[in-house]
Amino acid sequence: MADPDTATVEHLRAARARVLERIAVACARSGRRPEDVTLVAVSKTVPSERLVAAVAAGLDLLGENRVQEAAAKVSLVPGAQWHLVGPLQANKARRAVELFAAIESVDSVELARRLGRLALEAGRAPLPVFLQVNVDADPAKAGFLPAELEASLPGSIGPAEGGLELVGLMTIGRLVASADEARPTFADLRALSERLRGEAPGLGAGLSMGMSDDFEVAVEEGATHVRVGRALFGERPSP
Ligand SMILES: *Cc1c(COP(=O)(O)O)cnc(C)c1O
Repeated sequence: MADPDTATVEHLRAARARVLERIAVACARSGRRPEDVTLVAVSKTVPSERLVAAVAAGLDLLGENRVQEAAAKVSLVPGAQWHLVGPLQANKARRAVELFAAIESVDSVELARRLGRLALEAGRAPLPVFLQVNVDADPAKAGFLPAELEASLPGSIGPAEGGLELVGLMTIGRLVASADEARPTFADLRALSERLRGEAPGLGAGLSMGMSDDFEVAVEEGATHVRVGRALFGERPSP
């Protein structure tokens, strides 16, 4: 494989430094430590050659929203770890367990159980997952409704299932005019996590929230993982 283009690596290194600096400033504002926030570089639509440069620039944790797209890229981008951040169909679950270090978009009890079974079968370490929550009950979005999760989590998805490590909760902020309008969604996810962990000790404290337009607000509200695409890689081609 050819070495990545130097100018591309430098460009991505600078973009990464800018995003990490913004995370650090948001941490300072809210009394948090930057090392407690993990940057997931969302690389959907970004070609694998550019991702080789991204890894060289230090962006080695990549997020993809489609199993098929990730499957085409994984072997071409050595040294990267991959998170699935988009919807997962049951028939692609086995492939997802092979490809991804973590699945951030588990949106049903059924899917959680299936992934746990597949991870056990694969004999791998417990698969880290986030449960996706549709905090604002937006009909256009996937995820558990908060009430649904409060009713079902303690009994239905737990370490007893085996195969899974419940890292925490994930949400997608509302599409809003200013980042600050997304704040209540993030605050609600954090409050939900605190309530749930009281009843379901198997649930970790991870909070995956915040994207290019609102990650600083998400960090202020406690995000442990931010999923940033455009602020690193530039605008995506329109579909
Ligand atoms: C595309 C995507 C992101 C990144 O969005 P940007 O606005 O490019 O930062 C984050 N999370 C999910 C689930 C996505 O699909």
